[in-house]
Amino acid sequence: MIEKVGVIGAGQMGSGITQVCAVAGLSVALSDINAEQLSSAVAGIAKNLERQVAKGKLDAAEKDAALARITTSTELSVFKDSDLVVEAATESEDVKRLILKALVPNLSPTAIIATNTSSISITRLAAATDRPHRFIGMHFMNPVPVMQLVEIIRGIATDDETFQLIKALTARLGKTAAIAEDFPAFIVNRILLPMINEAVYTLYEGVGGVEAIDTAMKLGANHPMGPLELADFIGLDTCLSIMQVLHEGLSDSKYRPCPLMVKYVEAGWLGRKVGRGFYDYSGPVPRPTR
Ligand code: NAD
Repeated sequence: MIEKVGVIGAGQMGSGITQVCAVAGLSVALSDINAEQLSSAVAGIAKNLERQVAKGKLDAAEKDAALARITTSTELSVFKDSDLVVEAATESEDVKRLILKALVPNLSPTAIIATNTSSISITRLAAATDRPHRFIGMHFMNPVPVMQLVEIIRGIATDDETFQLIKALTARLGKTAAIAEDFPAFIVNRILLPMINEAVYTLYEGVGGVEAIDTAMKLGANHPMGPLELADFIGLDTCLSIMQVLHEGLSDSKYRPCPLMVKYVEAGWLGRKVGRGFYDYSGPVPRPTR
């Protein structure tokens, strides 16, 4: 049984995973290299839960109990009792490998490691640990408390017990699992990211402006969000990393990241999380930048 969960990375995804686990009754240790990120994650979770109380979806005692189940630390030693640690740090293979190497000596021998990577090979990340058989992909969607899906990806060595425990945990969190094979970007992002990349090409080539492209896809294809709005929401750094993994992993030029996406990332215009991407978020309503 998984009762004590650890989460590495207190960004958009790590804080969402922490929230759903704490509400489901699990105790959660959350870690990040950045102490400020930890306090803003906890403040964000508290605000989300207060909103749920106001809507009558959660009672105040449940909110307090969920918050009391969360501990934070900048040290990986906080994971010494964890049954499962979910890695949800920046989408970079180098960063994830370094984290995994440093994590292993802090874990009990039976702990499972899951990664929330959007695209990187589970088998390759597993090889950076001492336990490829207890390593798995658990790909939550953004925003975690709202989105129903968890993509579960087995590496070549993942054993059946680990797979069954993660499937059971997914159900306990109230989510639905889709099982994907370990290929670059799995299912959701193999399909979604080339569409977003194509939307950026459409902007780059001047076929339409930001607003026209998003309106076209919302009203013309019935998408709830336009692709550029969605790219800002995901984070352009994450979008670019996924396209690079697809491009390199499948060796097909159709996955070439759009140069405009590269430029935005180089400029630090990473989307909603920094206040600017294809939209400017500094005012009361997002404003298209092109
Ligand atoms: P984010 O930029 O919001 O957060 C990343 C966090 O990782 C930051 O708080 C950063 O301080 C922390 N971090 C970086 N290096 C670290 C280290 N060495 N040790 C500990 N913490 C470290 O990113 P995010 O959107 O939360 O994405 C996190 C992961 O989730 C990525 O693998 C991404 O691909 C995946 N993911 C993202 C989305 C999305 O829509 N954004 C959806 C599904 C999965």
